[in-house]
Amino acid sequence: MFEWFGKINFCPHTKVDGFAAHLRDGRLMGSTCTACGNLNFPPRADCPACLHGEFTFTELSGRGTLLTFTSIDAAPAGFENDVPFYLGVIDLEETGRLLACFGETIDPQEIAIDMPVQVVPRLLEESESIKIHYTLEKPGTTWVKTGPDRGE
Ligand SMILES: [Zn+2]
Repeated sequence: MFEWFGKINFCPHTKVDGFAAHLRDGRLMGSTCTACGNLNFPPRADCPACLHGEFTFTELSGRGTLLTFTSIDAAPAGFENDVPFYLGVIDLEETGRLLACFGETIDPQEIAIDMPVQVVPRLLEESESIKIHYTLEKPGTTWVKTGPDRGE
């Protein structure tokens, strides 16, 4: 799983590693506990409600509402050419919260608390260290297989 998100973890395996494979296929997944039916995002290997250790993946709509946002003007290494960029935290329609960058379908001038957004998985085929991520887009935006056109 982590080879697709970059080198960020020492654990080579996790029970929720199917999450990245589903993202590669354009699907945002939560986990549903097989004992109590509790739905979680991000997916949880063990249910936080009843501690049961078995779950199934459940596809989420990706629809959400913007809870808060910020602009990044001093970028971390490797993102110097992308500033300024905008990050938002959204409440997903089904459950959970998600942090992501805004994509090119939303003009920074349009960003407003409580606006509806769509989470769109993306592949970064030009990146060596990070292969997949997702962006916040206008509702109805469909999956984009390659990275955003940085020339726009
Ligand atoms: Zn449970």
